[in-house]
Amino acid sequence: MQIEQAPVEAGDQAGPEPIQELPIRGDEAVILHTQRLSTEDGPGIRTTVFFKGCSLNCLWCHNPESISFKPQMHWMESRCIGCGICLKTCPTGCLTKTEDGIKRDRQRCVSCGKCAQECPTGAQEVLGKIVGQEELLKELLKDKVYYDKSGGGITLSGGEPLMQADFCAGLLSKLKENGVHTAVDTCGMCSTASLERILPFVDLILFDVKEIHPEKHRDYTGHDNRKILENLIHVRDYIRANPAKQLWIRTPLIPGATAEEEVIQRIGRFIYTTLENDMQRWELCAFNNLCRDKYRRLDMEWKYATTPLLSKADMTRFETIARSSGPDPDKICVTGAASVENTNV
Ligand code: SF4
Ligand code: SF4
Repeated sequence: MQIEQAPVEAGDQAGPEPIQELPIRGDEAVILHTQRLSTEDGPGIRTTVFFKGCSLNCLWCHNPESISFKPQMHWMESRCIGCGICLKTCPTGCLTKTEDGIKRDRQRCVSCGKCAQECPTGAQEVLGKIVGQEELLKELLKDKVYYDKSGGGITLSGGEPLMQADFCAGLLSKLKENGVHTAVDTCGMCSTASLERILPFVDLILFDVKEIHPEKHRDYTGHDNRKILENLIHVRDYIRANPAKQLWIRTPLIPGATAEEEVIQRIGRFIYTTLENDMQRWELCAFNNLCRDKYRRLDMEWKYATTPLLSKADMTRFETIARSSGPDPDKICVTGAASVENTNV
């Protein structure tokens, strides 16, 4: 299957490895997992499908396992009973038992998954699997009664789902045939052609606006934001022509990066002048550090490993800044957890 590569502007950093060809059929995709009974990615009760592979490489990424398209291995200490079966199973001998647990030499690991197949407790796990469209559709439709009763549906997220746009378009069209509300959560870094393929089958677009300043956007995500904003305008124009569809904007509040007064004001002014009558919600998503262990299990460094959550006072302050920056205050909200010690500040 052809996996789309992010459009590149002069000066962009290399992003995740450009794997364009995977040994999968056109009606298959690489996904991480599906999350049932989700309430954070659109209205009502939903199932969110997390695709693997992303076109950006945000410094604060909360889903580091979704950046690469490749299946990746991780080891979960809490599940391990120390039986040593994985060490005996591994054909490359890249696992070692140490005082700090099972260590994997990632240069030698070929992600064959044999250790995970033999591990009796699920402590060795493969992140990422190839799924067929029909199989996934059948799974998603199992909760249709919940979607119908709650006003929910299905959200495609990631990673960046539109890097696998053909698969998404096929899946979304079948969901619409079955009367399911559909949403796509995108960072916007994709070809406009990919957006055009999915828009006819999407009820709600959740579109990330992380920064308006192009150079800062490149510093934080590896890519300048010109293509992203061009795609956002394209979505806006599509929604103007199809007013039953909705647009929600999402901005991460990241300490030392986007959680700055001038950043929120810049984004607010952009929304007010460009999208004010076209978007239904602007959500400020508070920094989340629950992914710290994911980085450790993937042997990845994380710049934000010791960064605390925002305080309740910080979240209120950014909400106030956003509400004074132009867009309708009733459309603005802040989501996510605040640091416990500061929740009463
Ligand atoms: S995925 Fe394969 S190569 Fe990697 S540790 Fe497991 S058995 Fe060894
Ligand atoms: S096979 Fe599983 S439980 Fe046994 S040592 Fe390996 S990771 Fe731990």
